[in-house]
Amino acid sequence: MRTHGTSGLHAGRRAIALAAAALAILFATTATSAEARQFGQLGAVAKKAQEVHAAWNISDADEQQLGAAVSQKIRERYGVVQDEAVTRYVSLVGMVLAQATSRPNLAWKFIVLDTDGVNAFAAPGGYVHITRGALGLMSSESELADVLAHEITHVTEKHTIAAIRKGNMVQFGANQSSVTADSALFQKLIDKTTELVLLGFGRADELEADQKGIRLANSVGYAPGGLGEFLKRLSDRNKGSSAKQGLFASHPEMQERLDKLSKQIASEHLASTATLQDRYRKFISYTATPQSEIATVTGGAAGLTGGGETKKDDAKKDEPPPKKKGFGLGGLLAPGPSEKKSAEVTGSAAARGADTELGAKGGPVKTIVVVNVTPADIAAFKKEGNLK
Ligand SMILES: [Zn+2]
Repeated sequence: MRTHGTSGLHAGRRAIALAAAALAILFATTATSAEARQFGQLGAVAKKAQEVHAAWNISDADEQQLGAAVSQKIRERYGVVQDEAVTRYVSLVGMVLAQATSRPNLAWKFIVLDTDGVNAFAAPGGYVHITRGALGLMSSESELADVLAHEITHVTEKHTIAAIRKGNMVQFGANQSSVTADSALFQKLIDKTTELVLLGFGRADELEADQKGIRLANSVGYAPGGLGEFLKRLSDRNKGSSAKQGLFASHPEMQERLDKLSKQIASEHLASTATLQDRYRKFISYTATPQSEIATVTGGAAGLTGGGETKKDDAKKDEPPPKKKGFGLGGLLAPGPSEKKSAEVTGSAAARGADTELGAKGGPVKTIVVVNVTPADIAAFKKEGNLK
């Protein structure tokens, strides 16, 4: 909020469609010196972790570099909505929130994924993704703000980094004498982090993101009830899916989550009132596609591998799945029971019990949409919405 510059939204200056598997090698061989240096730093930090084997901390620049690679995998999976006005609007809402956090100077990026699936994902370093399907299911700017605030909190609280550390996701073998920028180790870290981001965090992290998220949204003037309203609508939407009924409205965890939100709003007197439905509708005209009509991709981690390659499945064999998959905003929709290794597109995944939202097919264009939002733009946006 204080020293925020204009650098918040230069996402994707490098809109290079790197094949994921070749990413590390490409960085090692064709990266700019700055990129190589950053990857080198991350490698050095990883090596330090190998030595120390305790706390694994990375700098903001390294975290952002990891986030960039993870975001690229997510964009490759789902595609990006090529609409500058929509991206700009979502970015303005996100920047109003991000500026009020403890990490206002991260290079925050807000990306609209081109899929009917209803989801939102936070990658490390300030890469926040929301799907077209989620925007279609929302009815006000406060719902959008509350959901973005939840995702932003995952970043500001460094939930991903903590999960990597706690889960010992990066195995440092005694025989690994060096961890370099082009090592398979870094590629594995990207893969594992992407999987974590897509499948959702643990219960405690999700509750913290809810709690701090609505506090954040309220602090800038948004009505804090939007998150609960959105979650309820999402829950209702998924009632028709036989495989997932247990995870939704009747599920104790979901009910606990909604109860906690209501209690917090009362006990903390979170009384901000801006909902801004009209402004939302001015920019967002999507409608939600019924779940039964969503085409999905199966294979790998919710189709993450997209083309039916088996790397993700192999990786899963020696790793326990993230805990409490069904609890996150994205993770509300538990991964489907697909055992298939080849990708396929079907018309009624919900009827088969697959994870329709997470497994939803993505759009064809992967290029990030660059929007430049200045402090003056943010100030004007806040003033127009009567935000703080
Ligand atoms: Zn979450």
